[in-house]
Amino acid sequence: MRIDAVLAAAYDRLEGVSDTPQLDAQLLLCHLLQKPRSFLYTWPDKPLAEAERRQFEALLSRRHSGEPVAHLIGEREFWSLPLAVNPSTLIPRPDTESLVEYVLSLPMAEDARVVDLGTGTGAIALALASERPKWRLHAVDRMAEAVALARRNRDALGLTVEIEQSDWYDALQGLRFDVIVSNPPYIEQDDPHLSRGDVRFEPLSALVAAEDGLADIIHIVENGRLFLNDGGTVILEHGYRQGQAVREIFTRFGYQEVGTGQDLAGRDRYSFG
Ligand code: GLN
Repeated sequence: MRIDAVLAAAYDRLEGVSDTPQLDAQLLLCHLLQKPRSFLYTWPDKPLAEAERRQFEALLSRRHSGEPVAHLIGEREFWSLPLAVNPSTLIPRPDTESLVEYVLSLPMAEDARVVDLGTGTGAIALALASERPKWRLHAVDRMAEAVALARRNRDALGLTVEIEQSDWYDALQGLRFDVIVSNPPYIEQDDPHLSRGDVRFEPLSALVAAEDGLADIIHIVENGRLFLNDGGTVILEHGYRQGQAVREIFTRFGYQEVGTGQDLAGRDRYSFG
């Protein structure tokens, strides 16, 4: 069977299961063939070997049961960086790139010190390191598996970030930062969003927080002042309906110049103070 016919059947199969059936099928096939996506358009009439078809079928059927494409191919691009991913952390999302943009827009010293709390794959810290090699970047995660994954990504990309195991600020005593950035868990326990799509295959510890999803945000903001340099900034991702609540938390703990920024879809996605 030709590549174009195999793909057409795969699109039909994933329709209704995924929001992006064509992209998913193409990414899975490219992963299997170890080719860039342009290959599929250049050689639509190339026949697939029987073994390739069987392996593709196996991947499709896992995708059909909901497994995220990123888990099936072991990789997700963030800020144009190819990051290894696995089920021990959140899969990086394009929404989070808006926090990276915001941090890059801040007026900062050349050797600014920045920490990414709950770094997971290392996405935020590595994106910042790729743009600002002179910043002194730190990243922490509570889970040993995440620390290992973030270090693996750092080393594969040849970037410089100090990555340590730490429950939020616990291992950072004595350090002061110009920016504290985090994409913490912020989903409410009973949010129906948790039973649909990729989140079903991601660790709840990276997704769900107590107190209407705000418990970790409160912890980071409340303790942030002990770890900030004068004039420093805390910036946190949150749900698109949490902007006002998070701004109130910043204000309650005495932060100034509190505000909210939007993601690519124009929805509230992060707040800062
Ligand atoms: N934005 C993600 C989602 O809604 C959740 C990320 C997070 O909890 N930090 O799927």
